[in-house]
Amino acid sequence: MKTHIEPRRYLTRFDLPYFPHVVTDVLILGAGAAGLRAAIEAAKYANVLVVTKDALSESNSEYAQGGIAAAIGPGDQPRLHVDDTLTVGAGLCNEQVVRMVVEEGPRVIDELIGWGAEFDRERGKLLLAREGGHPRQRIVHARGDATGAELMRTIRHRISDEHRIRIAENAFAVDLLTQNRSCYGAVIYDRAYGTMIVWAKYTILATGGLGQLYRETTNPAVATGDGLALAYRAEARLTDMEFVQFHPTTLYVAGASRSLISEAVRGEGGVLRDGDGDRFMLQYHPDAELAPRDVVSRSILQHVKKTGDTNVYLDLTAMPPGYVAKRFPGLAQICRNFDIDVASDMIPVRPSAHYMVGGVEADMQARTNIDRLCACGEAACTGLHGANRLGSNSLLEALVFGRIAGWTAGEASAKSQPSILPLSLSPTTDSSQHREIDLADVENSLRSLMWRQVGIERDSSGLQRASDRIDFWCSYTMDKYFSTTRGCQVQNMLTVAKLAVLAALGRQESRGVHVRVDFPETDDARWRKHITFQRGNSDETAG
Ligand SMILES: Cc1cc2nc3c(=O)[nH]c(=O)nc-3n(C[C@H](O)[C@H](O)[C@H](O)COP(=O)(O)OP(=O)(O)OC[C@H]3O[C@@H](n4cnc5c(N)ncnc54)[C@H](O)[C@@H]3O)c2cc1C
Repeated sequence: MKTHIEPRRYLTRFDLPYFPHVVTDVLILGAGAAGLRAAIEAAKYANVLVVTKDALSESNSEYAQGGIAAAIGPGDQPRLHVDDTLTVGAGLCNEQVVRMVVEEGPRVIDELIGWGAEFDRERGKLLLAREGGHPRQRIVHARGDATGAELMRTIRHRISDEHRIRIAENAFAVDLLTQNRSCYGAVIYDRAYGTMIVWAKYTILATGGLGQLYRETTNPAVATGDGLALAYRAEARLTDMEFVQFHPTTLYVAGASRSLISEAVRGEGGVLRDGDGDRFMLQYHPDAELAPRDVVSRSILQHVKKTGDTNVYLDLTAMPPGYVAKRFPGLAQICRNFDIDVASDMIPVRPSAHYMVGGVEADMQARTNIDRLCACGEAACTGLHGANRLGSNSLLEALVFGRIAGWTAGEASAKSQPSILPLSLSPTTDSSQHREIDLADVENSLRSLMWRQVGIERDSSGLQRASDRIDFWCSYTMDKYFSTTRGCQVQNMLTVAKLAVLAALGRQESRGVHVRVDFPETDDARWRKHITFQRGNSDETAG
């Protein structure tokens, strides 16, 4: 598919003689579950440098609540978990990848327990929760709704023993260094030391998702899609960019950050009501609150349009006294901050952008089309999720493909020569004729536009308007060299937004999380295939 955006190859203003140079075997961009799991594996073979643009604690992984899906419950089997994943993926999953990831599930849980993860148990047995799209108890969780925090505590503790892993916080990856479709590391802007060139035999992209492209999102501030933009500039293939998943139940209180309210809450009996107290989900799907999350998000949207309200309510008042505070302590605490008592009050909720299904195309070894560049976690598109993600499959994917990416990069780099190459990075002289701009204003405008026109329901005219508006903003933003990471981040957001809009315009059907009101049917004959972008060379490929 043609993009009509050709951002310049490097956002960096190169002045090589003055940049510090750092050399490592494996460079990992991102320190969430995928990046750190990759680091543990790569360090068995090689020296590893992990960079993350903020504090180590800032990642989607850290904030994950519900848990990790694994077929370990009584009567459950990987075969059933595979079937559920394929059903939700709506015809676009890669079945071989689904099988591989799902079969790894029980081993992943054992490994984490072996590293000291304290998952919730009753009388010694792991407690398993149920979520939408999983017809059985399958979700391993920790401290009620703090699974991500426990997972990341465990992985960071495991890494603290590894003398071959170095971690640089507040180090922003600006661009991948490539020549002839081979990757040699990245340009990093370190808050303490400024711009530096990191040369690596292998680079792993694990920069997570893009929720911050939307005004309403569950994602923390770091999730701005940087990795997708820098991969695109480096001619990596990006796939399935139209599939953005919206989480149905995010706390909707003015002044509160959009805290996600885990699906597990509905799995344990929470019901959705409108302002009149009606349990409206029964009108929309036989599984009501436990329908797949895209169905619940869309139903909420349709219902608030019908009633004229801004939000609906989550009702937990039928749960036994004290149960919510014990099972979901994080949720109870956040609600208390706004004087909402989960035992007696209804909780105002509405959907928000949650998970990027598409990303940088990666094969079963986590390799991309760029030699020496791997991708894993939410930044990657491995084919596990297809057109929609089954809840709690993403942490599993991050851990499975993180290990694989670490192995691929670590093992190969142990056998290869150091990779400092005389890349032709000529110093930059040209500069923009446009005046300084208010970056916060561009960013906020983009986030509102994406929410309005590229949200849960899309149509041709809204998407076309979004595309034109982004082109206009790009015309005076993309030609600048910014001395701050904020500027690069906005350029990345514009790049990724444009790809998501074009993919959404291109897919003239509804499938999974991509809902076109002007093409409400799923059209297998024309669209059981992927839309792929590669700078200068884009296409559609069979699913
Ligand atoms: C609130 C919430 C709840 C969730 N609950 C669940 C759940 O219960 N179960 C489940 O399976 N999934 C859940 N998810 C999704 C899941 O958390 C993510 O898909 C998964 O954690 C992604 O891991 P990752 O390592 O790929 O990315 P992340 O954990 O997001 O890590 C990305 C890393 O990249 C860094 N980074 C980004 N850009 C740059 C840059 N330019 N330079 C340097 N570093 C950069 C970030 O700082 C961060 O360290 C949830 C997500 C959210 C937001």
